[in-house]
Amino acid sequence: MKLTSGITDLALGADHGGNADAFHAVLLSDEDGLTLVDAGLPGMYEQIVQRIEAAGFHVSQVKRLLFTHQDLDHIGTLPDLLEHLPEAEIWAHRDEQPYLEGALPHIKVTPKRLESMPAPQREAVQRMLDALVPGRVTRVLEHGENLPLQGGTVVLHTPGHTPGHISLYVPSEKLLIAGDAMVVVEGELAGPAEAFTPDMDKALRSLEQLLELDIDRVFCYHGGLYEGDVRGAISRIVTR
Ligand SMILES: [Zn+2]
Repeated sequence: MKLTSGITDLALGADHGGNADAFHAVLLSDEDGLTLVDAGLPGMYEQIVQRIEAAGFHVSQVKRLLFTHQDLDHIGTLPDLLEHLPEAEIWAHRDEQPYLEGALPHIKVTPKRLESMPAPQREAVQRMLDALVPGRVTRVLEHGENLPLQGGTVVLHTPGHTPGHISLYVPSEKLLIAGDAMVVVEGELAGPAEAFTPDMDKALRSLEQLLELDIDRVFCYHGGLYEGDVRGAISRIVTR
């Protein structure tokens, strides 16, 4: 689904049962090529290729992978993307870089969690972890930076869900690409999933900066699009 003329919701889904559009990766198309914002679980590469084609493009046009954060469901296809797009740049926030380069252990995929996975899943996740090597992040992003995407896209550091989590604000569209800083549940905007948010207080404080922005629509990786009283909804979340 197109969110704007240059921004497409790739709506990735679980293969076996589950939600058909559980993971809302985003494709940005600019004159110099495509930017994939987040990239699904391990095993979803073919689905990403198909969704990009359905949007009228080809995966070979992807020039950049922009990760809002390190979680498994956001960087899962990294090894496949690297294999097919060896020239692709990888952009992420400074505080997420050490995790994406293996200098710090992945926060949520602990050795214990890895051990508890069935063998095929464990192998796929290990392959993802093995791709987190020094130099992996080719552009380190800072809070407030204005990226040359969609006529200007602002990096917002929204830590709490992970230390270097970012959201992206596209002022020309009054659109916030929230990553996992918020979710949409049954049509309502909500704070990040508590079970997967190590620092919930910080995550909620991260949202306060959004009250200063002119936002008409919020697009969440989990739950998709929220259109409505954005400022009212975010106020309720931060003052819960
Ligand atoms: Zn997620």
